[in-house]
Amino acid sequence: MAHDDCIFCKIIDGSIPSEKIYEDSDVVAFLDINPTRPGHALVVPREHTKDFISSDPALLSRAIAGVQKVAGKVMSAMDADGFVLAALNGPAAGQEVFHLHFHVIPRKEGDGALIGFGPKTPYKEGEIAEVADKIRAAG
Ligand code: AMP
Repeated sequence: MAHDDCIFCKIIDGSIPSEKIYEDSDVVAFLDINPTRPGHALVVPREHTKDFISSDPALLSRAIAGVQKVAGKVMSAMDADGFVLAALNGPAAGQEVFHLHFHVIPRKEGDGALIGFGPKTPYKEGEIAEVADKIRAAG
């Protein structure tokens, strides 16, 4: 069901304009108005769901099929060398719109776009095993 206060629900129903680039029965894809690179697309399930972790796996599976189609179209149209696929989950991860969406960001060799994991730090002695144990034991 559409949420009245959700900007992506409004884009899906057409009450807010967007540059739609693909749609099927499960997803709508449109260009991000504030792109990291030209062609940066957002693939959004039609059904309102807050984020990845709270979504029905069947919905995710259908949405990912749409993501794959959009990624192929963006790669080809933008003559990209690669692309980044991202879904930000929660404010701590930078999520701003709480309707599940996947970013498809085309990349060119040497384009200088700042997308990545930031500085990486090796684990301290024994720490990797502790972290792995904790995650294996989690529900
Ligand atoms: P996130 O931080 O993953 O929640 O990303 C939300 C994205 O939605 C941002 O990259 C915004 O630039 C984009 N965005 C917000 N409003 C619109 C809009 N009206 N049309 C297209 N993209 C939008």
